[in-house]
Amino acid sequence: MVNQKYYGYGTSPSIIRDLFAYGLEQAKVVGKDKVYDYSLGNPSIPAPAKVEETIKKLLAEEDSIVLHGYSMAPGFESTREAIAANLRERFSTNAQASEIFMTCGCAPALVSVAKALTVSEDSEFLCVAPYFPEYNVFFTCDGGKVAVVSADTEGFQINLAELESKINANTVAVVINNPNNPSGVVYTEETITKIAEIMKKKEAEFGHPIYIIADEPYRELVYGGVKVPFIPEYYDDTIVCYSWSKSLSLPGERIGYVYVPTKCADTKEVYAAVAGAAREIGSVCPPTLIQRVVEECVGCDPDLVAYDENRTLLYESLTEYGYTVAKPDGAFYLWVKAPNGDAKEFSNKAKLEHNLLVVPGDGFACPGFFRLSYCVSNKMIRNSLPAFKAMIESYK
Ligand code: PLP
Repeated sequence: MVNQKYYGYGTSPSIIRDLFAYGLEQAKVVGKDKVYDYSLGNPSIPAPAKVEETIKKLLAEEDSIVLHGYSMAPGFESTREAIAANLRERFSTNAQASEIFMTCGCAPALVSVAKALTVSEDSEFLCVAPYFPEYNVFFTCDGGKVAVVSADTEGFQINLAELESKINANTVAVVINNPNNPSGVVYTEETITKIAEIMKKKEAEFGHPIYIIADEPYRELVYGGVKVPFIPEYYDDTIVCYSWSKSLSLPGERIGYVYVPTKCADTKEVYAAVAGAAREIGSVCPPTLIQRVVEECVGCDPDLVAYDENRTLLYESLTEYGYTVAKPDGAFYLWVKAPNGDAKEFSNKAKLEHNLLVVPGDGFACPGFFRLSYCVSNKMIRNSLPAFKAMIESYK
């Protein structure tokens, strides 16, 4: 006898994983260079050289008992201070170490916040489509609900009228993921300003805080000088969840944090509840070695040249063939309209006829579109272009 909810999560299929597994099998049949796998969002650029240098330096110089030992539950004070200083330097914020709680990546950061804010089975987390499918797991973890703002399928900004209408007395938070997975779109300053206005109004109407949970693992992955608004500058009741999984290409190292600014409503209670929730899921004192690494590398900028080349090549080629593509200003995803209107069918046909693996948008709460993860080799993209061309032509 096991918990049926968790049994369900453990056994439910994942279209992304299934596509990835299919690609590995097909590679054995047709050769690796004939499989065009755009399924996974696994960074394809190496971590900055400073990361490896720091790991080597720490291993050589530090006491290994300490380096592989536990830290305090919220993480090292020095690590949290380095992060706070970096936030102060980059944004208009007075971030302090005491407002930062280290986690084992962004996923546990989000789950800890979800648990901290779920007060009853009526608690609602409003998510904006298209959104990361794991939100359905994260934000219902303690019995709360996910409510959905349907996608703005024109520009993939945010459907503000619907957002406003869906905030109700049970809404505890609105989740904003910027830059966005899966669309690759960056929500503009105008969008964020309007959301802040709506939410201030709704807080006054319902008489309790309604938080923004800013999910920001892609914060530094932007192209062409586009600005990603730092939401605490626009809305006081913002809780930031971050990781270095994408920005420093360290997804396997499992390191991130929750930032609960002092100006946030009930800040002390929220921070303490996040700490308590992290304790329940065992996401406390993340790896000491990696905390020390991010402490020294927090100011490193990712080298985005390879992603940018991939983005430009794919965007320009697909647009030239006649695909409609959302403006890809951030992350490493391209969001494409299925030419036949049915992304599941498109994905299946592309897989079977061309070994071209694209993720249908249905799981992102946005059918009719598909996602391409362009954290792949530029050569694979070039080799895959005839398949994209053949696919769109097959619908004409
Ligand atoms: N949020 C979004 C939007 C993501 O795309 C991901 C990972 O792909 C996460 C959170 C989780 O990040 P992490 O791997 O740091 O747990």
